[in-house]
Amino acid sequence: MTVVIHSTTVVTGDADGAIHHDAAIAIEGRRIAAIGPSAEIRARFPQAEQVDGTNRAVMPGFANTHTHFGLTLARGVYEDLSPPHKPPFCGGLSPLPLPPLTAEENAVMCQLGALEAIRSGTTLVLEDGFNIESYAPQMVATGLRMVLAERAWDREGASIGDPTPFTVSERLAEAGIARIERLHARWHGAGEGRISVGVAAWAPDMCSPELLRRLRALQQKLDTLCTIHLNQIWGEVAAVQAQRDGMLPTEYLASLGFLHDRLVAAHCRCMEHREEKLLGAARVSVAFNSAIAARRGLSPRISVLEAEGCNIAMGTDNMAEDMVEVMRTGLFMERIRREDGRQPTPEQALAWATRNGYRACGVPDGGWLAQGNRADLIMIRTDRAHLVPLMRLVSGFVHQGQAADVQSVMVDGRWIMREGEVLTMDEAHIVREADRIGRTAWAKLFAERPDLEVPPGFAQA
Ligand SMILES: [Zn+2]
Repeated sequence: MTVVIHSTTVVTGDADGAIHHDAAIAIEGRRIAAIGPSAEIRARFPQAEQVDGTNRAVMPGFANTHTHFGLTLARGVYEDLSPPHKPPFCGGLSPLPLPPLTAEENAVMCQLGALEAIRSGTTLVLEDGFNIESYAPQMVATGLRMVLAERAWDREGASIGDPTPFTVSERLAEAGIARIERLHARWHGAGEGRISVGVAAWAPDMCSPELLRRLRALQQKLDTLCTIHLNQIWGEVAAVQAQRDGMLPTEYLASLGFLHDRLVAAHCRCMEHREEKLLGAARVSVAFNSAIAARRGLSPRISVLEAEGCNIAMGTDNMAEDMVEVMRTGLFMERIRREDGRQPTPEQALAWATRNGYRACGVPDGGWLAQGNRADLIMIRTDRAHLVPLMRLVSGFVHQGQAADVQSVMVDGRWIMREGEVLTMDEAHIVREADRIGRTAWAKLFAERPDLEVPPGFAQA
């Protein structure tokens, strides 16, 4: 099957930032066969399905290198309930517990997250989750390229940023490692190679040295990717210092050989310069989760991490899957933090959200458009009131673009969204069900737990 998208603008997202006008891109099977002048490419592939790209642009799809699809459940609740950034620390990322869901209900919330991801032009997702086996079939069916990273930890009865002593649980460690091995055996390479299975350590204050050593060995044995939440909140830093003789979280990982170029470290916000140096020296990829960082009122020092040698990628983390928002928020946050109205450039933000994310996930031949690369791409509408006159396409889209501009999404040479319609999921059904599940679960939680404070404006079912 060959597809030619013609009469369009192709934003390659390559290292030179090349943009082709009045161009076409040919896709053969799962790869990009050619990019060039429209007339020339159409003549070269006369049998191909022709897609008119007038008033459209073709761009690489986004890589979301850190998310938890099921946390769509906490939408509108957790965004405004961050833990304190100064002592006394209380532990956890919100004072409210998540309402319990059945595995089937959780799978629907994960499908909702995947829908939003596709609608915002995402083509690759690193999902950090617990018991992913229970929703892996639905995730594979989305058609997205994914790294499924099953989470392990061995701290009993605590959460990130908890100041209480570390109680090691051998049972938790064994269960986590068993889940990773089982998920890998069953799903690694699934979806014709679109799916890979990685190793996730929850966070430095949730994992003993012994477990981190075992997870590193497991990652090497499985020859796969690893991820961890790192320096996410100040409570985590305080907890690690208390647990590990004053060591900072990144120093703790470095002391165990846990930093390397196949590690995606999410957040990296509450950090000393010597930690940023350690990450850079080890060529770690950093998931810059700009939207959640902004909501928490915290920011990583992206320019420093990048200068020290880190690969900067982007992610949504909790509650939202909109990578268009994440890309713009990342640019805004860094400009505010640097007090610089020019840096980073929109081209840099685009690279973080696309090519760098693919590299972080071990897919260096994706996330940018070139002959021979993987056919993971999006088409955006450009004839929009908020985009024209669109003379600098990357700048225009990074500064003014919206997820709703994404019209079509292709992963591995296959359309998973076409002209505004998601082809791999029953969108209306999932939206309806997810709304019902979320409302019911929260209302039940508050009914059963009168001790919990109901957030302002909460609509009782
Ligand atoms: Zn996270």
